[in-house]
Amino acid sequence: MSRSFDVVVIGAGPAGYIAAIRAAQHGKTVACIDRWQNRDGKYAFGGTCLNAGCIPSKALLESSELYHRAGHEFKKHGIKTGGVEMDVAAMQKRRASIVRQLTGGIAGLFKAAGVEGLVGHGKLLKDRKVEFTPVDGEPEIISAENVILASGSEPIELPVAKFDGEKIIDSWDTLELDAVPGTLGVVGAGVIGLELGSVWSRLGSKVTILEALEDFLFMADRDVAKAAAADFKKQGLDIKLGAMVNKATANKKGVTVEYEDKNGAQMLEVDKLVVAVGRRPVTDNLFADDAGIQLDDRGFIDVDDDCRTRVKGVFAIGDCVRGPMLAHKGSEEGVMVADLIAGEIAEMNYDVIPSVVYTNPEIAWTGKTEAEVKESGRPYKTGQFPFMASGRAKAMEQTSGFVKIISSADDDEVLGVHIVGPMAGELISEAVLALEFSASTEDLQRTIHAHPSLAEAVHEAALAVDKKALNFPNR
Ligand code: FAD
Ligand code: AMP
Repeated sequence: MSRSFDVVVIGAGPAGYIAAIRAAQHGKTVACIDRWQNRDGKYAFGGTCLNAGCIPSKALLESSELYHRAGHEFKKHGIKTGGVEMDVAAMQKRRASIVRQLTGGIAGLFKAAGVEGLVGHGKLLKDRKVEFTPVDGEPEIISAENVILASGSEPIELPVAKFDGEKIIDSWDTLELDAVPGTLGVVGAGVIGLELGSVWSRLGSKVTILEALEDFLFMADRDVAKAAAADFKKQGLDIKLGAMVNKATANKKGVTVEYEDKNGAQMLEVDKLVVAVGRRPVTDNLFADDAGIQLDDRGFIDVDDDCRTRVKGVFAIGDCVRGPMLAHKGSEEGVMVADLIAGEIAEMNYDVIPSVVYTNPEIAWTGKTEAEVKESGRPYKTGQFPFMASGRAKAMEQTSGFVKIISSADDDEVLGVHIVGPMAGELISEAVLALEFSASTEDLQRTIHAHPSLAEAVHEAALAVDKKALNFPNR
């Protein structure tokens, strides 16, 4: 007899594994299918995020940042180190160990929650049947009351710069490099390109980032993007805007990159070239032709605001559906869908998803940019507070950047918060909560913030909105 579950999830990335655990918490019988295989040949849950994305990139960002600071800042603190050396093999061993602990942790969480983790390929058939093909066995048909598709995304390949896994590489290859390339080219100054470029630049690589658009970090607030660009330049990251890559050829020595900018055809020779021009949804062999699933015009699985596909009982979440390709967005969709399946009322607030770029300085924002508010026609006011005036930032020797708050001039509602500076990715949570609760600027102003803390910069920026900042002259 074929096995049957209340919920079958295909994909165990941050969207799928969270959906599976939440559904099990509701007392559902749940199976979660995943086929992710790491470079060591081992299968692991956790998807892109844990194996080849968020987690390994943050591990390397931390190591490379410490190395950089040891070489450049320790002296100021009075710390004498002698020569500082980077052991790339040890750094990569740490990265791999963190990934192993966290992905192994999911298997443990599945066990504790009663989720059946199935290793292999899942394919949705019609009538909510799922074909599960184990990595070492024959296909089995599983019945499900509900199916959640959480197949994630993969790097987009440029036809003019095809991946060869050696010299023209994707983000995963870049996270697993075993030596610092003398020169590194990066195509795309998006979040992934900037983070990976930062890692190898701090470790000594000469990094050139080629970005087709004229606007740097077009999705961020302009003030923040401008400040970050100035800092990156100081750090030696060479970011060429308006530079459209139209050919890359691997050769014995490295890669010859041909690109076009406002001055015409240009050429760049690098040891390795990372192509980080975005990601696309994974949908190949995910559902049968007669399963009833539709894709939108960009190849994402078509869903409504509740992540329902057009097939009753079939949902899709995470990177394989519309919206920002972020782990926390997928996880929250997973929670929402599991709650809906359990008959609860649940919804996602897509307006206040935080975005973070884990460079130095970090960049984080939530809500609307100043340009978006301006375009909406709503009268607004802004307040800004520099980390230069923060005691904690000074103590940390991390004074670059600021907090900027945009509020409605009519009813004082906080509309957007934009941070460039130390721990921006942590500080943004307060702003997310403020927007989630439709807080006013006055709410933030009257909230007591610990001293000395970086969070005081959020408090002071809120005060600055009404020209009441206390630790910086109001303009
Ligand atoms: P995925 O994590 O891609 O997981 C999907 C899983 O489904 C995979 O394991 C895949 O093997 C499996 N699968 C697919 N099809 C099938 C099938 N038919 N059968 C069985 N299994 C299947 N986001 C952040 O929020 N913060 C960050 O700091 C961040 N950093 C990143 C850094 C890098 C270098 C990269 C590449 C991405 C980063 N992201 C970050 C993005 C984040 O990784 C994704 O948004 C997130 O992983 C999406 O989760 P998901 O569950 O939708 O898909
Ligand atoms: P993201 O989608 O945030 O990962 O960013 C990818 C970036 O790559 C975008 O800013 C694109 O403009 C950029 N990009 C895409 N194709 C090219 C290309 N051929 N040359 C240079 N930059 C590109």
